[in-house]
Amino acid sequence: MSLEFDHTTLGQRVLFGTGKAAPNLADEVRRRGSTAVMVIAKGREAELARRITTGIDVALHHDDVAPHVPVAKADKARAAAQEHGIDLLVCVGGGSTTGLAKAVALTSGLPIVAVPTTYAGSEATNVWGLTEAARKTTGVDDRVLPGTVVYDAELTFSLPVELSVASGLNGLAHCVDSLWAPRADPINAALATEGMRTLAAGLPKVVADPHDVDGREPALHGAYLSAVAFASAGSGMHHKICHVLGGTYDLPHAQTHAIVLPHVLAFNAAAAPEAADRIAHALGGTDAVRALTALGDRLGAPKALRDIGLRESDLDEAAELSVAAIPTSNPRPATAGDVRGLLTAAWAGTAPEGA
Ligand code: NAD
Repeated sequence: MSLEFDHTTLGQRVLFGTGKAAPNLADEVRRRGSTAVMVIAKGREAELARRITTGIDVALHHDDVAPHVPVAKADKARAAAQEHGIDLLVCVGGGSTTGLAKAVALTSGLPIVAVPTTYAGSEATNVWGLTEAARKTTGVDDRVLPGTVVYDAELTFSLPVELSVASGLNGLAHCVDSLWAPRADPINAALATEGMRTLAAGLPKVVADPHDVDGREPALHGAYLSAVAFASAGSGMHHKICHVLGGTYDLPHAQTHAIVLPHVLAFNAAAAPEAADRIAHALGGTDAVRALTALGDRLGAPKALRDIGLRESDLDEAAELSVAAIPTSNPRPATAGDVRGLLTAAWAGTAPEGA
């Protein structure tokens, strides 16, 4: 069998160091010669942002951040950046905050230094998203890729355990879905496999002690690997379904991913034996579905879409919308009936096939 692929690696500087966010950020701002920095962070993350920006001159603190980047919030942040003559965006927070910085970069071309505080991984992709009138639009543009990412595991200590688990499984979903996504190749498969191994090593320690650096560091580093794999491989069946669920029914992002993943894996595993093998080994088991289910049980992962706001009456529509978006690269063809069955199990919280 001959090997042929077309792989793009996105260019970023990554500064990783526990307790080092403040000096790393200050060095980076100095290196770039930035003089008008806009810091984007809200709530709990705004406190973290104040702590790590003491060594730089901040021209503007912006805290008007909301999930899924509403267009009105993006317009407000863009106007603020222009009014203050901003030359660098620093975002401190999860995917929602990174998303707002990306929206500003999309129209202004301003560079971003991202300081992530969850495992969502938006900081490693060139994908942006905006929401208007309950419709989420996404696109790809290299202008939104943060030029530098500053990781500091201490900034994730305050992320509640339940959210850490859901967010970590969101990272794991990037890895699993990368293995059969439209641009899957041996390079992103290698990153995805190491991402799974690292996340699976870190997350149980995070659950046992949210302040354990030995858990938080691999979880964060695994999240980066997962996002790089995802940015390169693209969205597979799992992400397409979660995009419909999040965008149409406003379900929480990380929890939706955590719940749906075992069901998509169970659907695809037999038709993707090489991927299933990688997943099983990376998670320390011999069967991919059982290994993922066991990890979810150990972490106390959320199980049912009905517990996070999906109504049973939404299932038919969700299946129809999802099936239309599933890429042709998926190892097993999926009908609306298949997806309805998968979503019914995920809605009710019943064990995935083969678990
Ligand atoms: P989020 O950013 O909304 O954060 C979830 C919650 O955690 C929020 O209430 C936030 O305030 C809180 N939080 C974050 N960090 C914290 C910390 N260290 N301590 C305490 N609380 C903290 O959610 P998310 O899951 O990080 O990101 C989801 C969003 O990101 C979605 O809109 C999704 O579409 C987007 N996303 C985009 C990409 C991309 O490539 N463009 C990739 C992944 C996710």
